[in-house]
Amino acid sequence: DTGIERHEYDVVVIGAGGAGLRAAIAAHDAGARVAIVCKSLLGKAHTVMAEGGIAAAMGNLYADDNWRVHFRDTMRGGKMLNNWRMAQLHAQEAPERVLELEEWGALFDRTADGLISQRDFGGHRYARLAHVGDRTGLEMIRTLQQRAVDLDIDVFMEFTVTELFRDPSTGSGGTGGRISGAFGYWRETGRFVVFESPTVVLATGGIGKSYQVTSNSWEYTGDGHALAMRAGASLINMEFVQFHPTGMVWPPSVKGLLVTESVRGDGGVLKNAEGERFMFDYIPEFFKKETADTIEEAEGWYTDKKNHRRPPELLPRDEVARAINSEIKAGRGSPHGGVYLDIASRRSPDFIRRRLPSMYHQFKELADVDITQEPMEVGPTCHYVMGGVEVDADTEQSIVEGLYAAGEVAGGMHGSNRLGGNSLSDLLVFGRRAGHNAAYHSMRTKQRPTVSAEQVKAASAAALHPFEVEGGENPYTIQTDLQDVMQRLVGIIRTEAELRDSLAEIERLKERAKRLSVEGHRQYNPGWHLALDLANMLVVSECIAKAALERQESRGGHTRDDYPTPDDGWGALNLVLTLPSDSDSVDLKHQPLPVMPDDLKTLFEES
Ligand code: FAD
Repeated sequence: DTGIERHEYDVVVIGAGGAGLRAAIAAHDAGARVAIVCKSLLGKAHTVMAEGGIAAAMGNLYADDNWRVHFRDTMRGGKMLNNWRMAQLHAQEAPERVLELEEWGALFDRTADGLISQRDFGGHRYARLAHVGDRTGLEMIRTLQQRAVDLDIDVFMEFTVTELFRDPSTGSGGTGGRISGAFGYWRETGRFVVFESPTVVLATGGIGKSYQVTSNSWEYTGDGHALAMRAGASLINMEFVQFHPTGMVWPPSVKGLLVTESVRGDGGVLKNAEGERFMFDYIPEFFKKETADTIEEAEGWYTDKKNHRRPPELLPRDEVARAINSEIKAGRGSPHGGVYLDIASRRSPDFIRRRLPSMYHQFKELADVDITQEPMEVGPTCHYVMGGVEVDADTEQSIVEGLYAAGEVAGGMHGSNRLGGNSLSDLLVFGRRAGHNAAYHSMRTKQRPTVSAEQVKAASAAALHPFEVEGGENPYTIQTDLQDVMQRLVGIIRTEAELRDSLAEIERLKERAKRLSVEGHRQYNPGWHLALDLANMLVVSECIAKAALERQESRGGHTRDDYPTPDDGWGALNLVLTLPSDSDSVDLKHQPLPVMPDDLKTLFEES
């Protein structure tokens, strides 16, 4: 490997969104030498797109709010499949993490008496999202990035990691040994780099680019999920993909772009082509007790939350997305295949422009729609993956020693469905924990694991493979076909026959991907970059389809037409996916959920 750039760190953080930045800051504060690596420019991570807010039971607007209520909402939102310990830590620590962000310079919107203001979101009992208009993610990234830069943490940007290394001579990491580093390339020059480090924190975000209609950007190709699997770690909850109920449906160039839930939190309602406020027809038994069943009661809730139940438009996302899907299927959709989201007839233009400035500009500029005057057309869009790397709840370490995961790439916290606002808080709580624990682990390591010349040679050869094949298929065609398969066969409503077809299709795509080829050379070559990303998208898609076929029930983000209700037996099980080293097919096994202690169980009995 002569001539390959090499670096040594205690902690390498892959990803510079909220989770990665928070992890890097925590690792630095613990005294570790830290590097942050990211695919795009620093500051452009997915987190920057987050709009609505950070969920934290600060009790600024409703004194009755506290971590127990937030914990209960989160578990119910995830239909009790969440890792209870993660949900508990998240609810307990989120307020502190928000206050810390404020200390570091974040400027949140305020209540009349100067406290951090909190807004309503689906599934949350009380208004609890700390926010900055509808640009919360931008403020969060600005603050964390500024701090990371002030701390002089090394950043490798426009850099993609393609492989993780383990040192087989360090037996304690299970088969394959402990983590010893990572390998990747500079996007601009195509030149390779080796990181040697006893710990790696994955903070690579989600998988949305495997679907045709998505709110996610080009970076979401499931890299961290796939890197973890190839390094011997396990994934859980992969059958649960969140389709956000409201994405733009028109014009085609922006189909899938997110329309924040804050529109509904701030009073917007959903209507079908007949002008009917249809969500009242879709209140599930599980949420009947806490959901208003008349327009009068729903309207009363905006001003008097104590004596009214929540409007059905603010049910958890999986419920609202399925309802919209049904209305469109029943022929009551809007001209461009969505439904209407109306805030224009309900709030003043001033209020709308002040509370939802990004939405106002987004619709004005991209669709020529003035949302203060007309309703928006919206439909479901692939938004978030609940599934991810299986980690220990307290430390965020995966089953591979030295490999940590936090943020969207980690699994367990959200169970079968994530509540809005619970991701930004998840990034802060678990990003900090992962960074902190990785730093201590690394600094306690007496004999540093090493990366061998053979490992580097193999990683280089794998990355260059697409250049070796002549006359093969273009990676863009295979990506488009994969997105079509996932959208058609592994979407909001699933059936056994379609899932079986999807797996057969994915097998064919895997074969085609082995023979794809790229033209040109290593300097900024998007075709080559995609060829490498595609391998990750394929393995992640296989995980989703395989787990979706196995789970014979409907729960949260996973709806089976042939098993339309939740099942108690399945409700006690996680599906765990691994990639055996001698195979290119994922393996699936059942694993009982961790058991919630009795003192927490009582929170559910009371309700
Ligand atoms: P990201 O912020 O996506 O960062 C991933 C990082 O990993 C990037 O820096 C990327 O470059 C890097 N990376 C990926 N692969 C590689 C690789 N191979 N090599 C090197 N680097 C790599 N959640 C809320 O709680 N509240 C909201 O209001 C909200 N609004 C949202 C609005 C939109 C439009 C979207 C799309 C999501 C929203 N979410 C919201 C969800 C939330 O924003 C994301 O789940 C969260 O930001 C993910 O953060 P992360 O740190 O895990 O990953």
